[in-house]
Amino acid sequence: MPELPEVEVLARHLRPLLRGKIIRGVNVRRAKVLAPTSPQKLSRTLRGAKFTGLARRGKYLLFQLNGRIAGERVTLLGHLGMAGRMFLARKNEHLPAHAAVVFDLGGANFIYEDTRYFGRLTLDVSAATRLGPEPLSKGFQPRAFARALKRSRQPVKVKLLDQTLVAGVGNIYASEVLFRARLSPKLAANKLTSGQIKRLWHAIRVVLAEAVRCGSTVPLNFGRGKSDGLFYFGRAPGTPDFYEEQLRVYDREGQPCPNCRRPIKCVTQAARSTYYCPHCQRA
Ligand SMILES: [Zn+2]
Repeated sequence: MPELPEVEVLARHLRPLLRGKIIRGVNVRRAKVLAPTSPQKLSRTLRGAKFTGLARRGKYLLFQLNGRIAGERVTLLGHLGMAGRMFLARKNEHLPAHAAVVFDLGGANFIYEDTRYFGRLTLDVSAATRLGPEPLSKGFQPRAFARALKRSRQPVKVKLLDQTLVAGVGNIYASEVLFRARLSPKLAANKLTSGQIKRLWHAIRVVLAEAVRCGSTVPLNFGRGKSDGLFYFGRAPGTPDFYEEQLRVYDREGQPCPNCRRPIKCVTQAARSTYYCPHCQRA
């Protein structure tokens, strides 16, 4: 499931490809992903619109367009859900079976494919307004972060998934961040000391920035293979051998901890898997 780093890498890939392109036609094949926007409304709003920019907020993509009417600005919100993909393909290429929305850009199609239809592509941008700070921006302040943690009795791993605390951290990077910060995933958020909070704040930034940097240098096959290779960095089939495994604990149950060589453990918290090293993450 894509989290902040994967979505950021995708945004950087798509931004120059979409800039200046005009939407000539809108083909909605799975209306569910547009909700609450109707296919008619999407088509009416976007036909003739021009892509001007693409931003990322948390795990959301925000496509900016100039509408057909002079001065009209439109924002389209995208979310990849569990297994969504967004890519450009030549017009003469067959559409994938699970293409949910296809924009005709003249020479190419911009395709949103989603085998499970948990993602979104909609004119309703309200979801992106309810997010906490961007972890890699100046708006992510240690003091406000500490105050928010103090208000929660949830285990810190579960609290990290709360998108109002900090935007873009999901199940994979929550485990990775706690390993980096040497904190037990079971610690109650409001019991963290100020030193532990500082370590956590720092680990969030370092782990996410590293993953973005790493993803930006890996040859990914956007839209051209069975997978984009965007998820589980370093483990995508066909990834070159020189590419080093980046995830240190996630999905590595029973494998040796990179620090102490003792086995990584997996526990379930709030119905999601948490991976950690019980020896290195005792605090
Ligand atoms: Zn360890």
